[in-house]
Amino acid sequence: MTQSDSNHPRDFQSLPLQKPLLKNLQDLGYEQLTEIQAMALPAIVAGRDVIGQAKTGSGKTVAFGLGLLHKLNVEQFRVQSLVLCPTRELADQVARELRKLARAIHNIKILTLCGGMPFGPQIGSLKHGAHIVVGTPGRIEDHLRKGNLDLKHVKTLVLDEADRMLDMGFQAVLDQILAELPKARQTLLFSATYPKTIDALASRVLSAPLKVEVAASH
Ligand code: ADP
Ligand code: MG
Repeated sequence: MTQSDSNHPRDFQSLPLQKPLLKNLQDLGYEQLTEIQAMALPAIVAGRDVIGQAKTGSGKTVAFGLGLLHKLNVEQFRVQSLVLCPTRELADQVARELRKLARAIHNIKILTLCGGMPFGPQIGSLKHGAHIVVGTPGRIEDHLRKGNLDLKHVKTLVLDEADRMLDMGFQAVLDQILAELPKARQTLLFSATYPKTIDALASRVLSAPLKVEVAASH
């Protein structure tokens, strides 16, 4: 499958996204979709669960970021999207990209919650509230257990670099977080590789997912 396949969009402006998001993409100079974006974004924007596999640097953050921003209602000041990443560095990268994509949405609050950082400021930020939380599983679960974080209104869950999260032994912690999320939600799982363990996770966490894969040779 290639980007020129007629049933895949080629450019961002042909996607059914909210106008401010499209305008901001133009301002950012994002024109053509990458292959994984072309394959995944129509299903993501339509609200389907998606498993996306493509190598590092292929634009997976923009794929899930546009999906969750499209669904977000900034008037409702509560956590509507949760993005789980394996490391603080990756969570910071994702938050940076989301802030770029969200520039057109006024008053949007994106919060990172990662291990290795002091609790105090995180608890303070959580008291102020957020629309999107990006973080590492251990710290997110910690805040949940202590009653600092309410995930009952999450509409979109993203498991980014899910293969690495499993490699790092986050399976049990992921299960504890999943128990706190609404069953009716969209779940997007992204991974650079697709080991067998991902299948088991996906079948428990996603519902009738579309699986899109960009072969490593691309
Ligand atoms: P991945 O998560 O697949 O490793 P990223 O989402 O981090 O990849 O994207 C890698 C880089 O490509 C980022 O700097 C991002 O801003 C850029 N990028 C993503 N999609 C596009 C696009 N359609 N056009 C131009 N640049 C893009
Ligand atoms: Mg990534």
